[in-house]
Amino acid sequence: MYEGVVQDLIDELGRLPGVGPKSAQRIAFHVLQSDPTDVRRLAHALLEVKDKVRFCAVCGNVAEAERCRVCLDPRRDLAVICVVEEPKDVVAIERTREFRGRYHVLGGAISPIEGVGPDDLRIRELLSRLADGTVTELILATDPNLEGEATATYLARLCKPMGLKVTRLASGLPVGGDLEYADEVTLGRAFEGRRLLDV
Ligand SMILES: [Zn+2]
Repeated sequence: MYEGVVQDLIDELGRLPGVGPKSAQRIAFHVLQSDPTDVRRLAHALLEVKDKVRFCAVCGNVAEAERCRVCLDPRRDLAVICVVEEPKDVVAIERTREFRGRYHVLGGAISPIEGVGPDDLRIRELLSRLADGTVTELILATDPNLEGEATATYLARLCKPMGLKVTRLASGLPVGGDLEYADEVTLGRAFEGRRLLDV
């Protein structure tokens, strides 16, 4: 629709999650009208994040070192692991201040439709963390939707025979939704009211 580089920018923006063609166009023109210093700062932030941020070798959360801030924190309870789908879920749960254990980020959820199976998630890494018996409780905090429930059931079946207490966040979270959209109070309550999972 536009010429050369403007259209290139709109195309690139349109490939971002949640950005439709109209938004892509709006952002592109915002960039065109912005101060060059602001645009350079944005470009710099994009490059820096790819350069500096990696994934924690233990839990899969975003990290600026080999281990993330949670895994490096000696005050965290080593006996409890909260399993989530994405690093953004870690942020959502940290905001509630209800959880003092550590995390395990799966990198998604089981979804046959999208061709995501257990082997595509960081499940093997989870099992190796459970192997030495330090962890006694596993809290399954995958999203309250079809894929999240399927993933929780799969993990519960896998881990229960290991003698772990396997719990799931209490209901009350917006069903079909994303963990990150739950407000702090609701998510905090869901943590407190977590229930044992029967599988
Ligand atoms: Zn970590």
